[in-house]
Amino acid sequence: MADNVVKGQRVLDNGRAPKAVEEQRVCAKKGCTTTLSRYNRKDFCYAHAPTKFPRLRGRVVPEG
Ligand SMILES: [Zn+2]
Repeated sequence: MADNVVKGQRVLDNGRAPKAVEEQRVCAKKGCTTTLSRYNRKDFCYAHAPTKFPRLRGRVVPEG
């Protein structure tokens, strides 16, 4: 079984760190210390993300 079929060029190691995102980012909301995931490109945590929810116009949600 040929398991070494590598296509494309190999990334040359030139001594630089491979995209190390070590810096801890926290939510931009004042007082919020929620650490943002390195994959989260936003400035706010999930709770403070300025997400716009569509308004339910004239719709009354029955309680219960
Ligand atoms: Zn937050």
